[in-house]
Amino acid sequence: VKAAGKGHYNFFKPELYANIKARFAMEQALVQAIELNQFVLHYQPRVNTISGEMISMEALIRWIHPERGLISPIEFIPIAESTGLILALGDMVMEKACSQISDWKNQQLPLVPVSINVSARQFHAGDLQKKLNVCLKKYEIDATLLEVEITESAMMGEDNAIIAELAAIRSLGIKLLVDDFGTGYSSLSQLQRLEMDVLKIDRVFTSELGKSREGEIFFKAIVSMAHALNMGVVAEGVETLEQLGILRTLCCDEIQGYFISRPVTPETMSELMLQRYLM
Ligand code: C2E
Ligand code: CA
Ligand code: CA
Ligand code: CA
Repeated sequence: VKAAGKGHYNFFKPELYANIKARFAMEQALVQAIELNQFVLHYQPRVNTISGEMISMEALIRWIHPERGLISPIEFIPIAESTGLILALGDMVMEKACSQISDWKNQQLPLVPVSINVSARQFHAGDLQKKLNVCLKKYEIDATLLEVEITESAMMGEDNAIIAELAAIRSLGIKLLVDDFGTGYSSLSQLQRLEMDVLKIDRVFTSELGKSREGEIFFKAIVSMAHALNMGVVAEGVETLEQLGILRTLCCDEIQGYFISRPVTPETMSELMLQRYLM
């Protein structure tokens, strides 16, 4: 086999083989974890930049592995996406988020919307709006209590199927957020046509604030255009008081990040909900 000639030799690198094996093992483990329901959602608040009032919260998935403990979505979401398992995981996230909202409602906590992350594959499946609607009905939750985050790169290409699905979801009363904004190549007019409600500026731009002029210039331009197009702006990954101060002067509407709170368990989140003003 090794005699197959130069360009082909790479296929038989042991490291690459190990990598494929590791991915396959991860895929098998994920299938099992879904069956065993080894996932939980943690929640991170999103607050008004001026008042610190919690406006919404983001649901972030974690895998509770029996041997390894909490595993970050960064490790398994890409594999779930490439294998199609993201469809089952996505359904699970939707279900868990709605069930959690319903629990909080029964505890008579002051509710705020919960945003869930949705992958491109889930949009392409064509039944997302229907599934969201079924879930809302099942748990008797108002559609305004759910928000959907889709990454800028996932909505690129502008194919009609995604546009129609987005419009259908929004028609239910669910807000649409553009995740990781600034890392893809969409134009603001495109986003307005798609009727997106909120832009979440990727944290690479937030981390530049106070270090270089570029971060500030970027935010300033995005905020003024977004507002002119009736969209709100959220800064992701706010970690310092200095970043917060700059974002206030730039009229960025909302912030999310460790400066306010790390993603927390549902129990801790209920305390934050009661507190309501988080800075
Ligand atoms: P994301 O949607 O951009 O979520 C924000 C990530 O940034 C989260 O990482 C959050 O914990 C982290 N973060 C928040 N504030 C700060 C901060 O101040 N500093 C820093 N350094 N990081 C901060 P996490 O929870 O590990 O999630 C990583 C990614 O996994 C998410 O990025 C999202 O793309 C994906 N993901 C998480 N949950 C789901 C899900 O239910 N479905 C799908 N499809 N993807 C998910
Ligand atoms: Ca997100
Ligand atoms: Ca993001
Ligand atoms: Ca991200």
